[in-house]
Amino acid sequence: MSASSPFIAPVALHTPSHSGVGDLLSYACDRPLPPGTLVRVPLGNREVLGVVWDSDAATGELPDGATLRAIGGVLEGVAPLDLPWRRLVAFTARYYQRALGEVALAALPPQLRDLKPEQLARRLRRPALTADDSGNAIENIALTAEQESARAQIVSNPGPFLLFGSTGSGKTEVYLRCVQEMLEADPTAQALVMVPEINLTPQLEERFVSRFAPRFGAGAVVSLHSGMTNPQRLKSWLAAHSGTARIVLGTRMAVFASLPGLKLIVVDEEHDPSYKQQEGARYSARDLAIWRGREQGAKVLLGSATPSLESWHASRPPTPEDPEGGRYLRLHMPSRIGAGALARVRRVDMNQQPRRAVFSAPLLQAITERVARGEQSMVLLNRRGYAPVLHCVDCGWKSDCPHCSAHQVFHKTDRTLRCHHCGFTVRVPHHCPTCGSPDIHAMGRGTEQLEEQLAALLRNVQRPDGNAARVARIDADTTKAKGALEAQLAQVHAGEVDVLVGTQMIAKGHDFRRITLVAAVQPDGALFSSDFRAPERLFALLMQAAGRAGRDAAYMAAQGTPCEMWVQTFHPQHAVYEALRRHDYEAFAAQQLKEREEAAMPPFAYQALVRADARTQEAAQGFLQAATAAAHAAALPGLEAVTLFPPVPLTIQRVANVERAQMLMESPSRAALQRFLAAWQPILQTTRHNREHKGLIRWLVDVDPLTI
Ligand code: ADP
Ligand code: ZN
Ligand code: ZN
Repeated sequence: MSASSPFIAPVALHTPSHSGVGDLLSYACDRPLPPGTLVRVPLGNREVLGVVWDSDAATGELPDGATLRAIGGVLEGVAPLDLPWRRLVAFTARYYQRALGEVALAALPPQLRDLKPEQLARRLRRPALTADDSGNAIENIALTAEQESARAQIVSNPGPFLLFGSTGSGKTEVYLRCVQEMLEADPTAQALVMVPEINLTPQLEERFVSRFAPRFGAGAVVSLHSGMTNPQRLKSWLAAHSGTARIVLGTRMAVFASLPGLKLIVVDEEHDPSYKQQEGARYSARDLAIWRGREQGAKVLLGSATPSLESWHASRPPTPEDPEGGRYLRLHMPSRIGAGALARVRRVDMNQQPRRAVFSAPLLQAITERVARGEQSMVLLNRRGYAPVLHCVDCGWKSDCPHCSAHQVFHKTDRTLRCHHCGFTVRVPHHCPTCGSPDIHAMGRGTEQLEEQLAALLRNVQRPDGNAARVARIDADTTKAKGALEAQLAQVHAGEVDVLVGTQMIAKGHDFRRITLVAAVQPDGALFSSDFRAPERLFALLMQAAGRAGRDAAYMAAQGTPCEMWVQTFHPQHAVYEALRRHDYEAFAAQQLKEREEAAMPPFAYQALVRADARTQEAAQGFLQAATAAAHAAALPGLEAVTLFPPVPLTIQRVANVERAQMLMESPSRAALQRFLAAWQPILQTTRHNREHKGLIRWLVDVDPLTI
């Protein structure tokens, strides 16, 4: 170490995960650097971004005789990341079994790594915010009695809260009001509002900006999500970090935003699976929000019309026999704004309909009547493309993807067969590739086909203005281009579309005013899935879809028609549809929780998965078996309370020529599972380097997995 650099700083940086290099590396510096300082440091022959970490943390081993390298530079002008942020990162790394440096760096905007100091300095010179100074302006909407009661409870209790409110009950208005009051009461307070997918609900962003920009200044609201460019993300991040932004509106990644004044976290649609990250550290942003709120002294407000069973269970009222209840405070808002009614649910028994009918006669009739009255309908099918598979009538050939254990989907618009797992695309063949027969047909249906058939069926139906009915489609295929989704949603809002066909994208959060009918044409698939969460997800999707209808009570009253949710099913008596018919989330949840308790499944047990990807299925399973044997041989801590299930192939076993296997771990004790995973991690790493497992490509741990 040189005499001019007498201080040592442990630095968290991103080294390839599981590389064996410690999470933290030591560097020399010529002055003490407070933890949280952003620095540039040499790593190999590169210079990388790092965060000075707390010195009580263990540092990486220095090889014998090596000297410390010196820190390359400090990112001047950016305040150190505070202790709550560092604790959040450390907790995430520990809980989700990843390297600290990886989590820390992934939580920072990518451009921070690349900017030269002078570029950064330019970014930091930003004009101060000015609130609208027109003097008055701004009136609050009068809350309904239910909204007011929820607001009052949030003000006077520590939380966390579960706002259980019907679709259209005014949950968003409660979030807005709570944020506003929190920020008005404390000029340094900040709020984090998380939504599942901002891109799908551009309207919400507008609602926040138009509400808060006049009160707290233009720029008081910033967004953070993966649809933004790197410069935009950096700008939002710096605004949040420096405190100039008062409200961060973001997707799951925003849970890691640096918010020194954080006082309130809102998690909208808290049941949505997109809060779970599926790469790197597989964190649940909802669960981390609860953790962060407790640590940083911020209130946490979860909201949903169909809460996750985990949150519902955590918010059960405590009783003398069950003092564990009441971890969250449940707030109920059952009524729709303006005394609007929830959609009447109509089940069509498809056993009574002609075979292969896509639209039952009564549903088609109902849609036709709505078009003629100038009302809008929405038709939901959770499968894009024209048909999920092509097949040959003569030899039985099917359009299988050569690289995956899945079919290639037929897309008629551009006449391609596309694999939705690996992306492999070919032109649609004119003849069967196996026997040469021209007799190849589409089997099953997707949204493209639905759009086409509906347009044909409604060909002669007129709108009140005499024009022909207009059918439009929104799914991942129609919205690839930037701005396409916004443009298509705008058409729906403007009333240019009579029937909207789409995947679950159209069920999410949209505040369509003139939709009076929603139909799910083929929802049964999820009823018989091997995934124990499938019924929960189906119920949430259908409730949310139903919630798109009849949102404008005044419009509904003027039209004089009831709003309806149609379900075409071969199992009309199924518990999911029975509960849907009665809009009875509570009964549905009670029934599901009873089953989960009897089967000792979440939330009554805790799970984790280890997944292995390899050249062959044997190699993938062999690795998992060897690691399991080693865990038993070492009698690892926690193992006494953890059940290890045998390795199995994933449902889609092969993707892009990679074979995938996984094994499930389950425990009644979260702590025992955590103890076990921590002790097992080094064994998994050693096993991975064993020559016997050459075919292994990678392995990963998923704690609290959402799909198993
Ligand atoms: P949710 O988030 O529960 O679906 P929203 O907050 O979007 O419900 O409210 C549904 C509709 O009712 C929105 O158009 C909203 O502007 C309106 N709204 C909400 N609260 C009130 C209120 N107190 N008075 C009048 N309109 C309201
Ligand atoms: Zn053939
Ligand atoms: Zn494929």
